[in-house]
Amino acid sequence: MLAPRPYAGAVPETSLDTPRTWIEFVDPASADDEQQQVFRCDLTWLTSSWTCIYGNGCQGIYADRPDDGCCTLGAHFTEKSDLKRVQAAGAELTPDTWQHHGEGTGPKGWTEKEDGERKTRVVDGACVFLNRPGFAAGDGGALHQLAVRTAREPHTLKPEVCWQLPIRRTYRTVERPDGSSYLEASIGEYDRRGWGPGGHDLDWYCSSNPQAHVGAEPVFRSNASELRELMGEAAYAVLAEYCAAHLELVALARSGSAGRRMLPLLVHPATMAAQVVRAPRRAR
Ligand code: SF4
Repeated sequence: MLAPRPYAGAVPETSLDTPRTWIEFVDPASADDEQQQVFRCDLTWLTSSWTCIYGNGCQGIYADRPDDGCCTLGAHFTEKSDLKRVQAAGAELTPDTWQHHGEGTGPKGWTEKEDGERKTRVVDGACVFLNRPGFAAGDGGALHQLAVRTAREPHTLKPEVCWQLPIRRTYRTVERPDGSSYLEASIGEYDRRGWGPGGHDLDWYCSSNPQAHVGAEPVFRSNASELRELMGEAAYAVLAEYCAAHLELVALARSGSAGRRMLPLLVHPATMAAQVVRAPRRAR
C-alpha cells in the first residue's frame, strides 16, 4: 500500500490505495451489440467534492512553477482530430487574448514533437497557451478563457488530455468464462499514477488533495459536460442516477453513524479530510 505522499503543502494528500465503490453497467448505446461495452465507474471519485482550484490555492505541479497549474509540460494530442480542433480554436485567439500569440503563430508554431509525439509547445517554461500572471486578459489557459468568454464548453476547444484531467477513461477487453468478451471502459480518478512513473515526483497535485476537495457540487455534476462527452448521453444519465443514489446512501450512513468513523469506501478520503478541516468549531 502506497503511503500518502509528503509534499510542501500544508495538507497531506490522501493515499492512492484507499478502497473504492465501483459500479458496472452495460452502455445503453451498445445493449443490442454483439460485443457490448460495459462502463466501470468509480463512485467514490465521481461523488467526491474535487474541483479545480487554479488561481485559488493550486500550487502548480512543480514547486518552481507555482502559477502554471498543470500546464507546465504542454499537452500531447490523442489523435489528429484533437490537434485539428485545438488548431481551429487557436485561430480564434488574438494578441489581446493570447499572451504568446506572436510565438504561437511565428515560425516555430504552437506545437512541437516530444519522443516522436506531437504536443503543444512549451514557451518560457510552460504551455504556449498559458497566459501568465500580469497578462491584461488575466492568467490561465487562453483556450479555457475563450470558452468562458464565448459561452462554449471548454472540452470543445481544449486538448483532450487537458479537459479530461482529473477524470481518466481507460479501456480493456474482459474475457468471460463462457468464452465471450466485452469492452470495459473505466471512468475513474486521474491520480498521480495517471501521469506515468513521473507522477509520483510531482511536487503538488490536486486529485487526492483535501485542498481541492472543496467543490460545491460533486464531480459527476460539476463535470457533467466532460462525462457526457466521454460516455455518451445515455450512459451519463445512468451514471448520474447511480451517483445520486450513492450520495443518498452516504447521507443515510452519516445520519446513522453519529460518532462512528465513516469508511472511505463511500466518501473519497480527501473529501472527508476537507470536510473535517472545514467543519465549524463548536463555541466554547
Ligand atoms: S486540475 Fe489540479 S493541478 Fe491542474 S490547475 Fe486545476 S487544481 Fe491545479
